[in-house]
Amino acid sequence: MVEGTNGKHGHVHDVLVIGAGPSGSACAYWLADAGWDVAVVEKKRFPREKTCGDGLTPRAVRQLADMGLEGALAGSHRYHGLRSFGFGRSLELTWPDHPDFPAYGYTITRYDLDGLVCERAVKAGATVWQATEALEPLLAHDSAGGGRPGGADRPGGAGGAGGAGTATSSEVLPPCGGATVRDRESGETRDVRARYVVVADGSNSRIGRALGTARQRNHPLGMALRGYYRSPRHDDPFIESHLDIRDAEGEVVPGYGWIFPLGDGRVNVGVGLLSTDRRWKGVNTSRLMDSFVQCAPQSWGLSPESACGPPTGGKLPMGMAVGPHAGENVVVIGDAGGSINPFNGEGIAYGYETGRLAAAFLGEALSGGGAAALTGYERQLTESYGEYYRIGRAFVRLISNPEVMRRCVSLGMHSEWFMSELLRIMANLMRPERAGASEIGYQLLDLAARYLPEEPGAA
Ligand SMILES: Cc1cc2nc3c(=O)[nH]c(=O)nc-3n(C[C@H](O)[C@H](O)[C@H](O)COP(=O)(O)OP(=O)(O)OC[C@H]3O[C@@H](n4cnc5c(N)ncnc54)[C@H](O)[C@@H]3O)c2cc1C
Repeated sequence: MVEGTNGKHGHVHDVLVIGAGPSGSACAYWLADAGWDVAVVEKKRFPREKTCGDGLTPRAVRQLADMGLEGALAGSHRYHGLRSFGFGRSLELTWPDHPDFPAYGYTITRYDLDGLVCERAVKAGATVWQATEALEPLLAHDSAGGGRPGGADRPGGAGGAGGAGTATSSEVLPPCGGATVRDRESGETRDVRARYVVVADGSNSRIGRALGTARQRNHPLGMALRGYYRSPRHDDPFIESHLDIRDAEGEVVPGYGWIFPLGDGRVNVGVGLLSTDRRWKGVNTSRLMDSFVQCAPQSWGLSPESACGPPTGGKLPMGMAVGPHAGENVVVIGDAGGSINPFNGEGIAYGYETGRLAAAFLGEALSGGGAAALTGYERQLTESYGEYYRIGRAFVRLISNPEVMRRCVSLGMHSEWFMSELLRIMANLMRPERAGASEIGYQLLDLAARYLPEEPGAA
């Protein structure tokens, strides 16, 4: 991959992006495409492994197409919908039609995908330093009162101003002049300075926490494990989800299992759990994965012998659980801001979307709007995702009750129509200005959500 040239000593970039996952690379692409001087530091070197289900929904495909990358996906596995299993039944649900999104998705390993998007940002003019880790933010010492560096999990609250869904929207992050970075290959340390800083360092977000971001503990947190298996059905046209995964005692747990065909001889297999149910802490995810592999339909050919290596796991911060998302000259995007969709655990599309949104507001700030422009980013996040994620969080609380989950799934699995409409809601593919069944169902969920208050300080 072509990289940008080394930064000149003392040069102040328009924007420094920390992290080149989906959110950071998309943000860098849109900034560079608009002509701004953007530098990116990424601690790994592409291609690199990233623990993920490797599933791109129509929302993610749309963002990749907008970045001019759909052609680059041509060799990847295109799939047409979701096969859902639960309580002895299965349904094949094709992606719904939508005026703005395609009716297909792709699976592609993050090993291949993330480098493609990063390279696109470089081609658009971004300077990317790989194998370069941001160690700490450069804080303006005279503005110590502007934020609360050293954030940690915070107990529950009303969910931010207006309760619309962002974590702590009444607070702002402190001014930041860039970051001290270390070249992991040479060991050299230097400061990279910028007028604006984008925090895109993923779910652990060391830099975000150093600036003062924190997770709302009453918002759901996912925990998932995935592994690759060789499979005769590696090019199946449907991704598969299992809604009644069980622990070693045969009890249904609040989570799901998946098998995503990759089209390259392998399938991505995983299990995900939700933190809203207090029982999750007692569940051993490795054992859950073993029992899922054992119970999965035999035709997939999953077994310890077909495993390509041990599974790896990660956290899924959901529903805009982490905040604040903006400060005077800082924005937080993707997993660093908890932007994963609580309905389905999808985070790649929301990384691309929040990165793109941030780039638009940074462009405004750089064009003279200054700090005030960035408050618009937090507002727009609330407008775009606040209501949907609030309802998603309520949905998660509802299905975290095993009995409710059992009843809903066993009832739902009797109706393809019902599950198709639910898929439209869960994948955030409802049509604007349309009052179809899913849009009406969504309004009903909204009503239910109002009666399901968020627990203070849950997980
Ligand atoms: C098991 C699992 C399965 C999942 N399956 C799916 C799925 O199928 N589909 C889907 O849409 N989503 C899925 N997700 C969620 C998805 O992986 C994330 O939402 C997505 O990766 C978020 O992108 P991001 O750019 O915000 O963060 P990341 O992808 O985590 O990228 C952050 C980048 O920052 C770099 N970085 C971190 N710290 C520093 C630092 N200090 N300095 C420089 N660089 C740094 C990292 O190396 C990394 O490249 C899954 C998650 C898990 C854990």
